[in-house]
Amino acid sequence: MGKVLVIGAGGVGNVAVKKMAQLPEVFTDICLASRTLSKCEKIQSDIEKQYKRKIKIAQVDADKVEELVKLIESFKPDMVVNLALPYQNLTIMDACVETGVHYLDTANYEPPEKPIFEYKWQWAYDDKFKNKNITAILGCGFDPGVTNVFCAYAQKHLFDEIKTIDILDCNAGSHGYPFATNFNPEINLREVTQNAKHWNKGKWIESPPILDPESIHFTFKFPVVGKRECYMLFHEELESLVKNIKGLERIRFWMTFSDSYLTHLRVLHNLGITRYDEIDVEGQKVVPLKVLKALLPDPATLGKNYKGKTVIGCIFDGFKKGKRKRIYIYNVCDHEEAYKEVQSQAISYTTGVPAMIGAMMVLTGVWNKPGVWNIEQLDPDPFMEALPKYGLPWKKVPFRGKLPD
Ligand code: NDP
Repeated sequence: MGKVLVIGAGGVGNVAVKKMAQLPEVFTDICLASRTLSKCEKIQSDIEKQYKRKIKIAQVDADKVEELVKLIESFKPDMVVNLALPYQNLTIMDACVETGVHYLDTANYEPPEKPIFEYKWQWAYDDKFKNKNITAILGCGFDPGVTNVFCAYAQKHLFDEIKTIDILDCNAGSHGYPFATNFNPEINLREVTQNAKHWNKGKWIESPPILDPESIHFTFKFPVVGKRECYMLFHEELESLVKNIKGLERIRFWMTFSDSYLTHLRVLHNLGITRYDEIDVEGQKVVPLKVLKALLPDPATLGKNYKGKTVIGCIFDGFKKGKRKRIYIYNVCDHEEAYKEVQSQAISYTTGVPAMIGAMMVLTGVWNKPGVWNIEQLDPDPFMEALPKYGLPWKKVPFRGKLPD
C-alpha cells in the first residue's frame, strides 16, 4: 500500500521498522536510513531472519537537507518517519516539503543550543504542508502520542467537558544498571533537568525540577505494579492539549523515578556533567552531556535483562450530562515480552508501535489531512482500535483514587 522511509536506527527505529516488516500489506517497501550504517545493517539482518523480508538501508546525515532530498528522490517513499533526534525535525520536514512526501515524528523540535520544548517551529510549517497537499503528524510515540489519542477519545466519547487531565508515566521495570536512560540519554537528561511546568486556570505555573528537594511529588498506586513516587515534569504534549481539549482548566504530567535514579542524577547535575554547553578541556571543546551519553548504556541494548512493566495513561475529571465523572485510561507493557518480540525494552516498544500505527493511518488514507497536526486533532477511533491489535492493549476504568490538589 505504501513505501516508507524511516530515519534513525536507534531503540525506537528498531521497534517501528520490525513492526512495519510484520505488515507487508501496508508497508510494501521499507528503507531504514541513519547516521551509522552498521546499526541499519543489524536491524536489516534481524528482519531477514525473523520475517523473511528484505528491507533497504542507507547512510544519511539528516542534518543536511540536500542529502535527505537525494535519498528521498532515489527511494521515492510516500512517507518519511523521523525516529532520529528532535534536532533533525526541521531539516527532515524541509526535505518532505521539497519532495512532496508525508511526515511523522515522535518528539518536538528542540534547538541543540538550548532545551526549549515548544511546537512553534513545527506549527509554522502548516501552510507549506497544506500547499503541497501533504500531512505532517507530530508527536506520535506514547507520550506524546498515545496519551494525546486517549485525550481525543475522552473528549469525543466520554465527556461533555473535561476539567482536568493528569498524565502518569510509570516505568516499574529494572534493567540492572546503576544508572541508565530508556531513550536517547542526551535528549532525556535535557528534559528531566528542566523546571517542571503545568497549566492551571489559563496560565503556566513553573515549579522546581525533579532533582530539587522542593520538587512536587506524590505517591500513586498504579494498576499491576503498585505504589510509586510520581514527580511533576513539563512534557511537550501539554502545550498542544491545552489548545485542543476544549474548556480544560488544568493539565499536569507526572513521571515515576526511583531514589537511586534521583541520587545519581543529582550528583551528575551538581558536578556539571549534565551541562549541554561547550567547555574547554586542555584545549579541546567538550560538551559534558555528550561525554555522559557516550559513557551510559545505549538504550537500544537495555532490553536483554530488563524485567517488569510500564504503566502509562491519563486520568480525566469532568462532566457528562451534568454529572461528574472520573476515568483512567492506561496501557501496561511488559519489558520481557517486548524483548521476545522485537529485541527491545518497553519504552522503545511503546514509542515504536504508535509510530508504526500513525504511519499506517497516513498510508492507508485514514488520516489523510494536509497540514501539520498534533494527533489529538485527528480521529482517535481507528488508532484506539489499532493499539491492542499491534501490541498495546488499553483499559478504561472509573477512577476512585486521590490526586494532589
Ligand atoms: P537513539 O539515540 O537510540 O536513536 C536515534 C537514532 O538517530 C540513532 O541511531 C542516531 O544515529 C540517529 N541519528 C542521530 N542524528 C542523526 C543524523 N544527523 N542523521 C541521521 N541519523 C541520526 O534514540 P531513541 O531511539 O531512544 O529515540 C528516538 C526518538 O524518539 C527521539 O527523538 C526521542 O526523543 C523520541 N522518543 C519519543 C518518545 C515518546 O513517547 N513520544 C519516547 C522515547 C523516545 P547514531 O546511531 O549514529 O547515533
